[in-house]
Amino acid sequence: MEENKELTLAQQKKKALFLNRTNGYDRLAQGDLEAMHTYCEGYKTFLDEGKTERECVDYAVKLAEAAGFRPLVRGETLRPGDKVYRNNRGKALMLAVIGKKPLSEGTVIGAAHIDSPRLDLKQNPLYEERELAYAKTHYYGGIKKYQWTTIPLALHGVVVLQDGKTVSVRIGEDPGDPQFTVGDLLPHLAGDQAKKTMGAIVTAEQLNVFLGSRPFGEEKESDRVKLAILDLLHEKYGMVEEDFLSAELMAVPAVKAVDIGLDRSVIGAYGQDDRVCSYACLKALLELETPETTGVCVLADKEEIGSLGVTGMQSAAFDTFMSDLCQGQGVPLKSCYETSFCLSADVTAAYDPNFAEAYEVRNSAFFNYGVCISKYTGVRGKSGASDASAELVGKVRRIFAENQVVWQLAELGKTDQGGGGTVACYMANRNIDTIDAGVPVLSMHAPFETTAKLDCYMTYKAMKALYTA
Ligand code: MN
Ligand code: MN
Repeated sequence: MEENKELTLAQQKKKALFLNRTNGYDRLAQGDLEAMHTYCEGYKTFLDEGKTERECVDYAVKLAEAAGFRPLVRGETLRPGDKVYRNNRGKALMLAVIGKKPLSEGTVIGAAHIDSPRLDLKQNPLYEERELAYAKTHYYGGIKKYQWTTIPLALHGVVVLQDGKTVSVRIGEDPGDPQFTVGDLLPHLAGDQAKKTMGAIVTAEQLNVFLGSRPFGEEKESDRVKLAILDLLHEKYGMVEEDFLSAELMAVPAVKAVDIGLDRSVIGAYGQDDRVCSYACLKALLELETPETTGVCVLADKEEIGSLGVTGMQSAAFDTFMSDLCQGQGVPLKSCYETSFCLSADVTAAYDPNFAEAYEVRNSAFFNYGVCISKYTGVRGKSGASDASAELVGKVRRIFAENQVVWQLAELGKTDQGGGGTVACYMANRNIDTIDAGVPVLSMHAPFETTAKLDCYMTYKAMKALYTA
């Protein structure tokens, strides 16, 4: 029988009128597959090098300097093609590539965050109980506490010693390093625990990191295990117990970024929220030569706890950086802001077939359907959202279409199920047109999060298209 290639009238109309939602693998452009592979290898290295905001800044500065960026000097005259950055106290980073158009015609900003949920050590962390030494923690960001037990952890951070010297700590990442863990109760004795609700199965005060068990010295002494731990820390870092007071130490998952799935289509790692979008914005900016419009990339700290503090997106550090750029061209900051555009690049929830009841399938993001625009975020009735205008969504989708960016549009989950926010509102507050977009994540905020490689790559491609549009 001869194949009938003629479409019925209904089929023709469907093709012309229906929203076309198909898997991104069926929509890739020439060269995308190969570029995606190379891109994701670089991204996995970024994840392993930067497990804290400080480490992310250090690594990003290294990449930026290799790409010709230099620290911005206040008062200098900036010319098209100039590549500058400002390191905000080692925890946040702002970079810019000066465009041909004056800053009075605005900038394109990619804003992402480099802090991730983790277990921060309390300021007085170390104690011994029943001849076991532990560190007390205060969790950072929104976590399901039970997920942080019985996994290998590494200890990262800095200690500022009495003499003002800062020492860096990174234990549990190199081969042969010891690692750490938080315990959980054996199922045999979990009769009472099993009746508790999620937040109480493991409480915040039970998130104590095991540090050691070998006593020091004579039997008649007390706290011999704690003493042995302090002795090791003193030997390695020159620190005493009081130095914990001026330390920022954090326990993070010790696992490295890996390919997941027989087909290797997915990346599993700690801290992909929001280093996945941070890397996309950073890499796209580092590859800019002399764009028409000035490109800016912000890697912010403290997003997971409200973007507060001097290194968060609400800090004037960003305004100071931008006004220093503007001053170099004699442009008022406000006229730069009102003509600028910001992509608040942050992750969204990917539809999880195992927990389908939490999602509204018609407005969910899917793995491999590309970078996900969220017109708005927020909680219950869009509370706390920066709702991008229809005009802004229209502009972005036009740019994506012209540049063969595979994209989708979604919101987090069922309307009254929960919600979230990003730095978008703080950029919009500055009178900057802002839209949310980013990578869909499965198991978001868990110690081990997963993303689809196609979506990671498309977020980079999207950012590149916006920078060069
Ligand atoms: Mn995020
Ligand atoms: Mn988050």
